[in-house]
Amino acid sequence: MQTFDEIIFSVSEIEDVEKRFSTLYSICHEKYISDTQLAISLAEYMIKEAALHSYNDGVAMGNNLLGLCYFTLSDYGKAVKYFRHAVDLLDNSLNSSLKGSVLNNLGSLFNQLGQIENALTFYTDAYTIYSNTSELRKLNVINMNMGMIYLKTKNYPTGLMYLNKAKQFFESEKDIINLCTATSTIGVGLFSSQKYDEAKLEFEESLKNAESIDFKTNICRCYLYLGLIDVKQNNPTSANSNFHNSMQIAIENDMKVARIFNYKGLADMFCLIKEYDKALEQLKHAMDLSMELNLKDEIIDLYYMYANTYKRMHQFEKAYENLLKHKELNEAFLEEENMRKIQQLQVTNQLHQITREKELAEQATVAKSNFLSNMSHEIRTPMNAIIGLSNLMIESNNLINEDLAYVTIIKQSSDNLLHIVNEILDFSKIEAGKIKFEINPFTVDTELKKIYQMFSLQAKQKNIDLYLNISQQITKNLIGDSFRLNQILINLVGNALKFTERGSISIGVKPLDVYDGKINLQFEIRDTGIGISPTKLEQIFERYKQVSAQTTVQYGGTGLGLSISKQLVELQGGAMVVTQNPGGGSCFAFSIPYAINSSNELEIADKVYVNQESFEDYFRILIVDDNMLNQYVLKQVFAKFYFNATVEGVESGTAAISMAERFHYDVILMDIKMPDMEGTEVCKRIRKMNEKYIKIPIIAHSAGVTLEDRNKAKAAGMDYFLPKPFLRDELSSILRIAGILKS
Ligand code: ADP
Repeated sequence: MQTFDEIIFSVSEIEDVEKRFSTLYSICHEKYISDTQLAISLAEYMIKEAALHSYNDGVAMGNNLLGLCYFTLSDYGKAVKYFRHAVDLLDNSLNSSLKGSVLNNLGSLFNQLGQIENALTFYTDAYTIYSNTSELRKLNVINMNMGMIYLKTKNYPTGLMYLNKAKQFFESEKDIINLCTATSTIGVGLFSSQKYDEAKLEFEESLKNAESIDFKTNICRCYLYLGLIDVKQNNPTSANSNFHNSMQIAIENDMKVARIFNYKGLADMFCLIKEYDKALEQLKHAMDLSMELNLKDEIIDLYYMYANTYKRMHQFEKAYENLLKHKELNEAFLEEENMRKIQQLQVTNQLHQITREKELAEQATVAKSNFLSNMSHEIRTPMNAIIGLSNLMIESNNLINEDLAYVTIIKQSSDNLLHIVNEILDFSKIEAGKIKFEINPFTVDTELKKIYQMFSLQAKQKNIDLYLNISQQITKNLIGDSFRLNQILINLVGNALKFTERGSISIGVKPLDVYDGKINLQFEIRDTGIGISPTKLEQIFERYKQVSAQTTVQYGGTGLGLSISKQLVELQGGAMVVTQNPGGGSCFAFSIPYAINSSNELEIADKVYVNQESFEDYFRILIVDDNMLNQYVLKQVFAKFYFNATVEGVESGTAAISMAERFHYDVILMDIKMPDMEGTEVCKRIRKMNEKYIKIPIIAHSAGVTLEDRNKAKAAGMDYFLPKPFLRDELSSILRIAGILKS
């Protein structure tokens, strides 16, 4: 018997990821009945590893295995949960074979629970999937399962129709095992429909095939039914010989239930020839064994058979006693059966409830996300003034030492506040499933160099070495969301710097694998800081989680950054892990698959900013904002840093339209959320007003900063987007791209 470690070791040598997981899947699949606990550990390991490799199908395989394990342990609630999760994961997967087998498992589970309708639904789904693939064998196994279900519900014609389809296929494929099973099950269906002659033919055929491959259980089944048919057709001698053949196999192979059926068959046979004492003997064997196995429905049936036998022997008292026992037990059993059904209903009900609760929770999350979006908007608006004005004061060079220190603290605190608002907004968007990723060309080394530059001054001030290692093997021109990549890197490098007092921090990137025009890049941020204890490694990705309460006091932060970063990575199809740096400190690694940009087209290259700005010519600017403070900030910034501009402000959309009708403006900065009219609407109307306004740069200046907000502004015909609060560099950059500022 291989241990967990031995199995993991044996597969770790397989280089190809998909092959490695499919091997592990097969091993685990073989073990889930004989060693369920081991299979559970393997499946859990598989889920974790596959997630790290962003191998979705692997995660689904693990969930399917867990479902099978809990199915084996009769923990149906858990089994359903894992199977369903696997189905969800396989929603967009090309691996339809795997999806079919998960659906088939769900069918079998509900069949076991006696929920025939659910079982049929899942079998039918699996059937549809297999019909579209060339996996005819699996398709016909489902035909067989459906056939059995219909027989169970006593809908014999439909059951036989499915079973005959399966039989035909297995016959043509010379798949003797399945052929035997299909044929003998057809026999059972015909026997139950009292078509004994037809049933006999099927059992004889099945028996012949089963004997050719020594398929013991089926041989045993065929002889048993042939015996039962003999009894029905009044052939005691042949029945006797068939039952004995069946019994011999049952005894040799320890098939106790088959033995019970044969004892019962023999009892019937002895009744037929009126040898009642021998019949009673057989019934006793059957009863002893049924008691041993606690087979309640058999015990009940046997009391009934006893009663009938005694009746024929004219021992009416004994017949009555047994009939009474039969009745009592039957009632108790029905009660139990009802309880079991109620419990099953509870399982179904729980599932419905879980689905309903999930829906409600999702609705609540969306409402929460909308609320937070609105709050963020409201907070940003006054912060625009605080940050804008404190920037102006710091840059004015008029402040004496103490005042400069105060204003700098105001500025830093508002920057922190803005950071928190951003994190909460991101977090709620992720939670509500509303986050979207941009698909733009970018160069990965440029992004990393920017990050390196951004942190190099701080690192220098703390006397920490900052390294950047870009593997030669990476493809640099990619397509994806560079904004989010920056956000993740800033969070991780920022943390590394925050929690490191001496030593070094290295930022690295290397390729993990390349496939189908994509490259899976692995980024790594390694530091020599305070590190994270092994027990906390798992937890720090949880929301609001910091290593200790002391962290908040000493370093601040919300404990949201890592949770957001990890989810941003996962939503882009990647994974993030943290380990301890062997020499002390921590190492955060994450992978994201990016499409390779073969066209080499790039977004606007890095921009260079200068401090003093002047316009190409004399310019007239209109600011539209219902918040006077924000108008004031912009006016001050223009007055201080940009020459040759006349700046006018209005407080409403209507006023903006009438000003634009009367005067010519070279650029318009427009708030979006205004009481009388949305900025987007004002923009549309101005654009339509007359020809000269078609091309005028209109800059959306808004506290709603999400991708959706930006897209909405763009769709309304606004050319640029300046968030609130803004950096002066951002304003300059827009004015320069718009051709208004001198380069
Ligand atoms: P925040 O930094 O805002 O508290 P994060 O989610 O970014 O939130 O980090 C969560 C916690 O993880 C931190 O408070 C800190 O305890 C721990 N942590 C993160 N990065 C590091 C690191 N590089 N070294 C040591 N501890 C870290």
